[in-house]
Amino acid sequence: MINIILLAAPAAGKGTISKALKEKYDYVHISTGDLLREAIAKGDSLGKKLKEVLNQGLLVEDQLMNEILEKRLSEKDVGNGFILDGFPRNLKQAQSLEEILNRLKLNPVKVIVLDVAKETLQERVTGRRLCKNCGAIYNIYNPEHRPKIENVCDLCHSELYQRTDDNEETFLTRYQTYLDQSLALLDFYKTKGNLSKVDASGGSSEALSLIEELLNLS
Ligand code: AMP
Repeated sequence: MINIILLAAPAAGKGTISKALKEKYDYVHISTGDLLREAIAKGDSLGKKLKEVLNQGLLVEDQLMNEILEKRLSEKDVGNGFILDGFPRNLKQAQSLEEILNRLKLNPVKVIVLDVAKETLQERVTGRRLCKNCGAIYNIYNPEHRPKIENVCDLCHSELYQRTDDNEETFLTRYQTYLDQSLALLDFYKTKGNLSKVDASGGSSEALSLIEELLNLS
């Protein structure tokens, strides 16, 4: 299967779309945000340092991020096809990724950009709630994605929580970081000829269909 990078501003739907591709086509979903949150959950000194960076909406230092990613890409399961969600965030990371893929003899990636307006993204971020137990994602501002009972997961009835970095202030920093650093990636991948844009403003189901069409999956 084709390896994919999903490139998008925060809350454009990367997480939801990756989950769907994983369930339908057995893609391995590698979210660098999730890898970092796992490291934070360990509560050691590295975890504490990472927590501070994430809560400020800043990027984790490239060298450390590359090491965390290479370790994950070294695991056997990625050979069947993987989706990178949240990496690369800047040009240096994109260049490191090429080196990592070569070193690990993994196939090159196809880059898919999820296109969504800033105002829509802000509402998605501040309204996003996740299930503590099964990871299901909700949005309290969207009637289609609101939990049936406030703060309770529809699927497993566990409590919902809000990510500590899902507030307006952090969103604006993260959005600006995306504009400042990630947009250079578009040129990088456009020049390489492996970039496609998908309109994701209508929600993740619509975007998923467009991606399936693009990759000839359905
Ligand atoms: P995400 O879950 O992708 O929204 O990422 C949450 C946070 O993790 C970001 O705001 C960054 O602080 C950090 N992060 C995730 N991926 C990267 C990366 N590739 N490089 C640096 N920091 C990252």
